[in-house]
Amino acid sequence: MIIDFHTHVFSPRIKKNRRQYVQADPSFALLYDQKNARLATADELVASMDKEGVDMAVIANIGWTTHELCIETNDYILESIARYPDRLIGFGAVQPQAGAAAIAEIERCAHAGIKGIGELRPDMQLLNLSDRQVMNPFIETLTKHRLILLIHASEPVGHYYTGKGNITPEVLYHFMVAFPEVITVCAHWGGGLPFYALMPEVKRALKNAYFDTAASPFLYHPQVYHQVIGLVGSDRVIFGSDWPLLTQKRLLDEINSLDLPPDVKARILAGNARRLLGMTAEGSTV
Ligand SMILES: [Zn+2]
Repeated sequence: MIIDFHTHVFSPRIKKNRRQYVQADPSFALLYDQKNARLATADELVASMDKEGVDMAVIANIGWTTHELCIETNDYILESIARYPDRLIGFGAVQPQAGAAAIAEIERCAHAGIKGIGELRPDMQLLNLSDRQVMNPFIETLTKHRLILLIHASEPVGHYYTGKGNITPEVLYHFMVAFPEVITVCAHWGGGLPFYALMPEVKRALKNAYFDTAASPFLYHPQVYHQVIGLVGSDRVIFGSDWPLLTQKRLLDEINSLDLPPDVKARILAGNARRLLGMTAEGSTV
C-alpha cells in the first residue's frame, strides 16, 4: 500500500482564475505567480495516483492569509474527500489570527472529516508561533479533534527557491517545546531539524514530530533517507511528493532505488501514515 502524505489540489475555479487569486493572496502568489507553477484538481490527482499505483493521498491546503480564502478552499477539499472517500484524506487551512472564526472553521472541517490542518505557513500568514493568545486555542482545538498539524519547513542554509520561506529548524524546535502534545508533520524533512536530534534536548522535543519527504529530490541527496532514519527512526519518516510540484513517480523511483529493508520501506510508504491517520492494521478504511 502507498499513501502520499503531501499533495496540493485546487478547484477548477482557482485554476481558471489564477491571476485573481495571485492578486488576492501573497501566500498563493508566492507559490503560484508563475504560469509554469502547476495547479491541479482532485480529479487530476486521482488520475496520477491511478497511474503510479498510489492508493491514498492527503490533499493539503496552503497557508492562505485571509480567513475567507481558507473557507472557500476548504470547501473544495471537503467536496473532494466526499467524492473520493477511499482515495483522498483532507487537510484544511486556517488563519489562526482570525481567532474565534478560525476555531469555528476547524470545528466545521473536523466534523466534515478532515484529519489535519495544513500546510501551515506561519511566515506568510504572519503568525507568531509563540503568541500564546492566538496559539493556545488553536492548539487546543487541534488536540481536541486529534488533528495532525502539517507545517511547511525550510533549510536556513543552501540555495534559494520559490516558496522557501524561513520556517527553519529553530522555529520548529521552539514550537515543539511550547506545544509538545501536537502531532506535527514537518514538511520537506523539517528543513533539516532531524539532524539536531543528536542533541538530547532536541530529540526529546521531537517526541510527536514526523518528517515528510515532500520535494526531496529538489533539496537533498538521496542519502538523506538513511541519515534521517538513523537519527530519528523509520517510524518518523513519511512519504510525501508535493505533487503536482513533482510527479509521484519521481519520489517513488527514488525511494525504490534505495537500499532499505522491506519493513522500513513499508513504514515510510504507508505504515506511519496509517498509524497517524488512525487507520487500523486490519479491516481498515481502505
Ligand atoms: Zn511546503
